Amino acid sequence: MDQDGNESRLGARAVIDASGTWGLPNPAGSDGFPALGESKASASISYRIPDDVSEFAGSHVVVVGAGHSATHAVLRLSELARRSPGTRVTWVLRRGSATNVFGGGLGDELPERAALGSRARKMIDEGLVNLVTGFRVAEFRQDSKSLTIVAEDGAAVTDVAHVFALTGFRPDTEMLREVRTDLDPAFDAVAGIASEIDPNIHSCGSVSATGAKQLAQPEHGFFIVGVKSYGRAPTFLALTGYEQVRSVTAHLAGDHEAAARNELVLPGTGVCGGSGDFDDNAGSCCAAPAPALVQIGLRPVTVG
Ligand SMILES: Cc1cc2nc3c(=O)[nH]c(=O)nc-3n(C[C@H](O)[C@H](O)[C@H](O)COP(=O)(O)OP(=O)(O)OC[C@H]3O[C@@H](n4cnc5c(N)ncnc54)[C@H](O)[C@@H]3O)c2cc1C
Repeated sequence: MDQDGNESRLGARAVIDASGTWGLPNPAGSDGFPALGESKASASISYRIPDDVSEFAGSHVVVVGAGHSATHAVLRLSELARRSPGTRVTWVLRRGSATNVFGGGLGDELPERAALGSRARKMIDEGLVNLVTGFRVAEFRQDSKSLTIVAEDGAAVTDVAHVFALTGFRPDTEMLREVRTDLDPAFDAVAGIASEIDPNIHSCGSVSATGAKQLAQPEHGFFIVGVKSYGRAPTFLALTGYEQVRSVTAHLAGDHEAAARNELVLPGTGVCGGSGDFDDNAGSCCAAPAPALVQIGLRPVTVG
């Protein structure tokens, strides 16, 4: 559509979808569905990091989420709590341990990313933030005065004025309905890179499959790149996107040697574990929790 609102079609030999995930934040419900009452309470829930938090001075604000966005929000709000007596900040984590949330410390090759976690830990130690772990958001109950957040096990965070649900984003595939795509059914990432970025297995930042070959879709000449190619996986860095685009454009220009080359070197995070099993176990780096043998249809066997 042009500036005057006139629509037209544009022919192209190839299309690269780099439209990101920013438009589709995840809900607060811990199972990926909106929690009960979440849409009714929408006036009291934000899904982006706040720029200006001054309006929350003197109130109880809750941050839901374990990623860098949530950590940013917690830091902004805890500075407000320091300046404005009566402000309370509660940080709700689905996972049972906050260990990985505080980052990789000296093991993180991006110092500013590492600093985020250590600053958050300091705010908790100073009593400016109340950390609640193992809280799986199930329901929002709004009354005339405030909001109550209820977990699946019945635990509750009460007297809440506002919630920042910073639980990640997912790609918008609506415009691709008529286009043949190959996306991972579990987390919407491009299937060709999905096994390397599965947040249930690892999030240490390492990923090698990232070029035109892996990103090409069944629709001829169509590629998905950037954070959208990662689907709901939370570990994307711009560096990966630059490498993806370098490879795809080399492929389109006919330089297949350059397209096949992998020039990506990612800084290690020093921690691993995005979601899923890691919510219960702060697992070891870049490996799924050890497999357990499950026998079906047999008598229980004592191991030991
Ligand atoms: C809060 C936050 C902080 C982050 N910090 C970092 C960081 O410090 N370092 C880092 O490497 N990564 C960071 N990331 C990850 C970051 O998302 C990516 O690195 C980078 O922005 C992704 O680039 P992208 O081009 O794939 O998507 P985006 O930057 O999201 O760009 C997508 C663009 O497509 C446009 N668009 C969407 N739909 C359409 C459409 N239908 N038609 C046309 N245009 C459309 C959007 O308006 C947008 O401009 C951060 C992410 C978040 C959410």
